[in-house]
Amino acid sequence: MQNLEQDLECLDASPSSPRQTDRKPEDAPLEHSTKTPSSRKRAQKPSQSDSLDWLVIGGGIHGVHLSARLIGEADVSPERLLIVDPADHLLARWRRCTAATGMTHLRSPSVHHVGLAPFALEGFAGKRRQHEPGLFTGPYKRPNLELFNAHSDSVIEDLGLEDRHVKARALRCTVQPDGVAVSLSNDQELFARRIVLALGSEDLHWPSWAPHDHPLVDHIFEPGFDPTSLTSPSKVAIVGGGISAVQAALRLQGEGHSVHLVSRHSVRTHQFDSAPGWLGPKLMNGFRRESCLEARRTMIRDARYRGSVPPTVRAHLRTAIDQGAIAWHEASVETVHATRDKATLVLSDGNSLELDRLLLATGMSQERPGGALVDELIETANLPVARCGFPVVDRALRWHPRIHVSGALAELELGPTSRNIAGARRAGERLVRCAWAEAASDR
Ligand SMILES: Cc1cc2nc3c(=O)[nH]c(=O)nc-3n(C[C@H](O)[C@H](O)[C@H](O)COP(=O)(O)OP(=O)(O)OC[C@H]3O[C@@H](n4cnc5c(N)ncnc54)[C@H](O)[C@@H]3O)c2cc1C
Repeated sequence: MQNLEQDLECLDASPSSPRQTDRKPEDAPLEHSTKTPSSRKRAQKPSQSDSLDWLVIGGGIHGVHLSARLIGEADVSPERLLIVDPADHLLARWRRCTAATGMTHLRSPSVHHVGLAPFALEGFAGKRRQHEPGLFTGPYKRPNLELFNAHSDSVIEDLGLEDRHVKARALRCTVQPDGVAVSLSNDQELFARRIVLALGSEDLHWPSWAPHDHPLVDHIFEPGFDPTSLTSPSKVAIVGGGISAVQAALRLQGEGHSVHLVSRHSVRTHQFDSAPGWLGPKLMNGFRRESCLEARRTMIRDARYRGSVPPTVRAHLRTAIDQGAIAWHEASVETVHATRDKATLVLSDGNSLELDRLLLATGMSQERPGGALVDELIETANLPVARCGFPVVDRALRWHPRIHVSGALAELELGPTSRNIAGARRAGERLVRCAWAEAASDR
């Protein structure tokens, strides 16, 4: 426990690791800033033709946190920053995916949130903690999802981030000598001195045996999937062995459905999705010392407890199985036959399930995110990638002097927790330092 606390509070301050490619983005000079004075007050939305200091592409956990850090800690003037995301509101994907699982609490501790100070979420809960016992749970003070979302809304509100939100998709980025031009799906073009790619992972992991576009088959993270649309009582199978599959099964069982949970492996129990040592120097020092990017990729793969559940979720599952409320099948899917109103699942253990609904809780693709936008950028700006296809970036998470990355795109630098909220916070520290270094070089 003490180690975890130390890890969580640790700042990442060790020397930079050697690059594997010839190209060394960390050697690239920082260009001079044209900073405007710091201002926390609401800014007018700039006309799209205005040049920006920062353009954050993606308005998820990472994009929101990085924008908050740049405005709140690096003194970036709000009117010099925009966030591009096609959703109507920031954090839309986070809200949709977490709601689909029925999770009540986050898996991560209370110091991992989108705000600034590590204990801001606990502070936000304030006196409510005395009256509402479930706001945090367990020794790691995992926050309640509603509380986490309410705090995120308050961060967005306080910093006026929704005013900085352009509701469009970035389609193409073109690097120019003094910045990056970004073409949007609404036919506008923005120009920023720096961009941040905070794209998240859009591609769902869809098993090859599962039919696409069948009305009885859904992925729980698919846009448009509405878990409340199931008319109770339905016979539902959920395929997947990780936390989201188990949480969705518990939720549907609680709503009166007959639930089958199909997992290729037995329940794997881990408190977090990687060892807490990856949050600080204990394990990250070895990662940083490793200069071979393929070895780093292997370390990341080995470190992730994919398809695992924390002990409390496992205990709830155990109870539901023992009470016969959830039928557990440790098997793989051999075939599925879906008609207009029934789906038949044939399992490797010889069982055959006739279902009203088949739900995939098989997670997101682990491939490099960004699709054509990133593919084209690599090509046109000649950006360095490791053999696994992921960006080779410097300590400031620069893939190019004008392009920073976060989330999965930063994982060869930030390690196994890069995609999580902790990774967003770590990326925030790096970006703030970079922005401050730039400001200092101006003085
Ligand atoms: C159910 C669930 C529970 C989780 N629980 C936890 C937890 O407890 N603790 C933890 O640390 N982590 C958790 N995670 C993991 C992780 O923190 C989240 O996946 C997090 O939301 C990732 O944030 P992100 O900003 O990288 O990606 P996203 O939330 O996917 O946001 C990326 C955004 O970028 C937008 N975008 C993509 N391409 C473009 C483009 N070309 N132009 C404009 N916008 C674009 C997308 O539309 C999206 O809105 C959880 C994940 C899930 C799914």
